[in-house]
Amino acid sequence: MKNIFIAISIFIALISCSKTKPNKQTQQTVNKQDSTIIKQLFNTSLTNGKSYEWLRDLTSNIGGRLSGSPEAQQAVEWGEKLMKNLNFDNVWLQPVMVPHWVRGKKEEAYFTSNNNKFNVPICALGGSVATPKNGILGEVIEVKSLEEAEKLGEKLKGKIVFFNRPFDATLIETFRAYGGCVDQRVNGAKVSGKYGVLGVIVRSMTSSIDDIPHTGTMRYGDLTDTEKVPAAAISTKAANLLSEKLKENPTLKFFFKQHCKTLPDAPSYNVIGEIVGSDYPDKFITIGGHLDSWDLGEGAHDDGAGIVQSIEVARLLKLNNIQPKHTIRVVLFMNEENGLRGGKKYAEEAKKNNENHIAALESDSGGFTPRGFSFDTSEKNYNLFMSWKSLLAPYGLRDIKKGHGGADIGPLKSETISLFGYKPDSQRYFDYHHTAIDTFDKVNKRELELGAASMASLIYLLDTYLK
Ligand SMILES: [Zn+2]
Repeated sequence: MKNIFIAISIFIALISCSKTKPNKQTQQTVNKQDSTIIKQLFNTSLTNGKSYEWLRDLTSNIGGRLSGSPEAQQAVEWGEKLMKNLNFDNVWLQPVMVPHWVRGKKEEAYFTSNNNKFNVPICALGGSVATPKNGILGEVIEVKSLEEAEKLGEKLKGKIVFFNRPFDATLIETFRAYGGCVDQRVNGAKVSGKYGVLGVIVRSMTSSIDDIPHTGTMRYGDLTDTEKVPAAAISTKAANLLSEKLKENPTLKFFFKQHCKTLPDAPSYNVIGEIVGSDYPDKFITIGGHLDSWDLGEGAHDDGAGIVQSIEVARLLKLNNIQPKHTIRVVLFMNEENGLRGGKKYAEEAKKNNENHIAALESDSGGFTPRGFSFDTSEKNYNLFMSWKSLLAPYGLRDIKKGHGGADIGPLKSETISLFGYKPDSQRYFDYHHTAIDTFDKVNKRELELGAASMASLIYLLDTYLK
């Protein structure tokens, strides 16, 4: 398998060599100019960057900004004002209706076994219903998968179902570990609800063993109102302890209480800023992250980082006197976390207005040290993007490969667009993801700035070479 791959790579290299040979001189000149400009973009971000101070402002002065909340509205106004102050050619708000779920009073949980009481750090999952006013007390059935819960079927009746499949710690890319577990959080209640269970608790989505519960979205699918049971996440430490105690005492009792509810959909906005292209004003390159965040923390890594980096891309281009040929749009998407309504709305409007979107870049993997980009594109552009590897590698951007672009830009997917995801180092992301400790102090200034410059470099290359 590997040998075939090497043979194919050599073949491709030979073909591309023979193609570029007559233009070798031009190719080298262009690359030299590209590497000079990329170096300037990094220099500017690292010596005169604004992303970190913007993030401080967004996270410290507004904080968590769940869709439909007053903080989400403040964030919309914050983004609009900032882009206007930066003299974007056009700045506007794109209306979108968003889900409006509220957590209410802090949740409580404990379990008792052999007359000992163990307190459990817990948080409701986004979209969950509340428990009855006095909470839920019941026996627990531990399962490791949705399939296992399905198999138990009627045996789950009257119990609290405990989904406890941990992250696979051997996976180097932690998003893959998350992807391997998150079905429990999203669909645990949907699968168990039809069997008359009391509620659902799920092990937090992290490989870190600590006392921090991680929220996140969940769905009931087509369950009836009576089948919709409360769902919550418990910390990994508590999940380990509960699992251990269940082995000693399978009839131990677990209690939890939560007060969340879903209100009617609320009006909100995507915030859009535009630099009009000099040569192809009707061809668009979108850069974005999501402006909403979960309510528990400050939404610093998820996704305040992506927001300030996206805005900084436009500022870095301007500061370096780079006039884009295509129209560059910076989009602060609303409601990625619990509905993706902003991403869907943006794509819907683009289609309605017959806009020609040639590329989009999303930053929603935290503000950590740059590692690369994943991209979803046609075969035609594949070789072009791979040819940029040597330009990006000096900045730690070595992981350039096919893959997912991002949730918010996903709805823009078409035959012709190229979708990119910015990929920073993933080792610490799930320590903070969707928790009370996703706060400004967890973001490193240089790492954030390197990310903004990485994104600006890619946008510069796309604008220069993409047709
Ligand atoms: Zn996110």
